[in-house]
Amino acid sequence: MDETACAHIEAISEVKQAERLECEECVKIGARWVHLRTCQECGATLCCDDSPNRHATKHARASGHPVIASAQPGERWLSCYPDDAFATY
Ligand SMILES: [Zn+2]
Ligand SMILES: [Zn+2]
Ligand SMILES: [Zn+2]
Repeated sequence: MDETACAHIEAISEVKQAERLECEECVKIGARWVHLRTCQECGATLCCDDSPNRHATKHARASGHPVIASAQPGERWLSCYPDDAFATY
């Protein structure tokens, strides 16, 4: 973890990976997404802010789960919403 990581990110010892490469909320409503993020609190995989429905951000606000990981193949980073922190791993 690099020095910009916050306490939430530093508390993560093992990064949760996406179980399925799809936004579980978009699938329910037949919407499209751009990129995927996985919640590090509950493991939900949801769509990014470039996607029309921004489910990952909505989930973080509604649930208070702070940290997401990119679920894009080849991307290895974590981001914390309340601290606006970012770390690669
Ligand atoms: Zn944080
Ligand atoms: Zn979505
Ligand atoms: Zn969550």
